[in-house]
Amino acid sequence: MKVKIGEAVLELVEGDITQQDTEAIVNAANEQLIPGGGVDGAIHRAGGPSIAEEARKYGRCPTGSAVITGAGNLKAKYVIHAVGPRYRDGKHGEPELLASAYRSALNICLEKGIDSVAFPSLSTGAYGYPLPEAARIALKTIISFLKEHGRPRLVRMVLFGKEAYQAYEEALKELAAREGLS
Ligand code: ADP
Repeated sequence: MKVKIGEAVLELVEGDITQQDTEAIVNAANEQLIPGGGVDGAIHRAGGPSIAEEARKYGRCPTGSAVITGAGNLKAKYVIHAVGPRYRDGKHGEPELLASAYRSALNICLEKGIDSVAFPSLSTGAYGYPLPEAARIALKTIISFLKEHGRPRLVRMVLFGKEAYQAYEEALKELAAREGLS
C-alpha cells in the first residue's frame, strides 16, 4: 500500500530491511549501539563489521534519538541507527519516545539530503511495543513530518511478516481516510 503526501510517497511493503535499495535504511538500535538481535543483528550480519566500528565512535545514543553511519556491504549508502523505547505500560513516555525516534531519523535524512529511506517497525520486537499502537504512532509521525517538510521523497516501512504488514496497513487506511490521503 502507498499514499501520497504532497510530492512525497509513504509506502508499506512486507520484506527484509537488509535488501532495500533506498539511500538509507534505519536500524532498530539500542542505546549502546552494540550489535544485538532482531533487525539489528540482521543489518550488522549483512553489512559487515564496518557499521559497528563506525557506530562505536558515537558512544551512546539516547532513546528517542538517532545517529548515522555508512552501510558497509549493503545496497543502501547509509544506516541510520534509531533507538526506540522499551515498552513498559505506555505510561512512561513510550509514545513520545517512539515518535521522537522516527523524527530523529527523518531529520538526519533532511540534514544529509537523503531522499529515500526504509524503516523497520521500531520497538515492536524485543522491546515489546504492541503492534497496532506502534503502527499508528510511526505512521502519524511520518505523515506529519512529510506534510511539514515534503522530504524525504520516499519513506518505505518494511514490515517483517504478515502480521506486522497487516497492522500497519490497517493503521494507514484509517489515517489516510481521516487525513484525506490517497
Ligand atoms: P526492537 O528492539 O526495537 O523491538 P527488534 O529488531 O527486536 O527491535 O524488532 C523490531 C521489528 O523488526 C520487529 O517487528 C521484527 O519483526 C522486525 N524485523 C526483524 N528482522 C527484520 C528484518 N530483517 N527486516 C525488517 N524487519 C525485521
